[in-house]
Amino acid sequence: MLKDCLSDILLYIKEESWKRGKPDGIVLISNGLLMNMDYLKLFRYCNVHLSMSLPGFETFEEHTGVDNAEGVLRWFQIAHSLGMDTTLNVTVTKKNYHELFETLSLGLLNGASLVLINRFLPGGRGLKYLQELSLDGEELNGMLETTEEVLTLSNRYGQTGTEISLCAIKSPMKYKRISFGTKCAAAKDFFVIDPAGQIRTCNHSPRIVGNIFNDEIITDKAYWEIFANSNYHPSICAKCKSISTCDCGCREVANILHGSLNAIDTSINLLNPFL
Ligand code: SF4
Ligand code: SF4
Repeated sequence: MLKDCLSDILLYIKEESWKRGKPDGIVLISNGLLMNMDYLKLFRYCNVHLSMSLPGFETFEEHTGVDNAEGVLRWFQIAHSLGMDTTLNVTVTKKNYHELFETLSLGLLNGASLVLINRFLPGGRGLKYLQELSLDGEELNGMLETTEEVLTLSNRYGQTGTEISLCAIKSPMKYKRISFGTKCAAAKDFFVIDPAGQIRTCNHSPRIVGNIFNDEIITDKAYWEIFANSNYHPSICAKCKSISTCDCGCREVANILHGSLNAIDTSINLLNPFL
């Protein structure tokens, strides 16, 4: 649901950033369903970088429950005509994997400037569809290869969102257009505040660790510090030479699937010789 005070929040951030001499760049992620011209003009005024989700074209309705792929593409076109930079946000699942080339191409041809690509991450309602939606190792690499191909053909750049285990990527050095993160940024480079003021280490984390309205903002310090100190590597990774540059995929996925932050995430390559 969209909070009706969204415009007040954006205008407040713009004003406060200006008063403090800080850049006012805001990234806003939308499914495009409630987009309208007034919002687009407001986003342009507030220097908002708009990121819109397109989880497949043919399979959009199957993934989202609404038939709005054409709508999202139309808003990319309009944003482009207003001179706005936008990001095409694609979550790749087993069901839309076959049309990834077309999905990325359509988004870029309709005006998106950048690509953000994510593997399907188990969590929330998606847990029910774990087997149907999760990519295997070949598909994960195929996702990166197809994205690199489309970005090369279109002369654009992109990045992965959720971190991937380094050992899951067959040839990390070959990618020139797509950059990927292997270090978890939760509780270090960012954290999440929901509309009630509750704090989580990451948007993928179901665990509330504090509230901005409390005297002591972080109450679940033990959980927070595991992320802040990156104290969560699985023991099977202990001998890996890449451990200083890899946080072993998503630690929240490991926790959601196996009940421990030190467990393995779906992207760890169990054939890795260092394991
Ligand atoms: S073995 Fe562990 S630390 Fe090494 S690359 Fe794989 S996930 Fe990362
Ligand atoms: S918890 Fe997972 S999704 Fe969140 S920043 Fe860390 S790796 Fe990324």
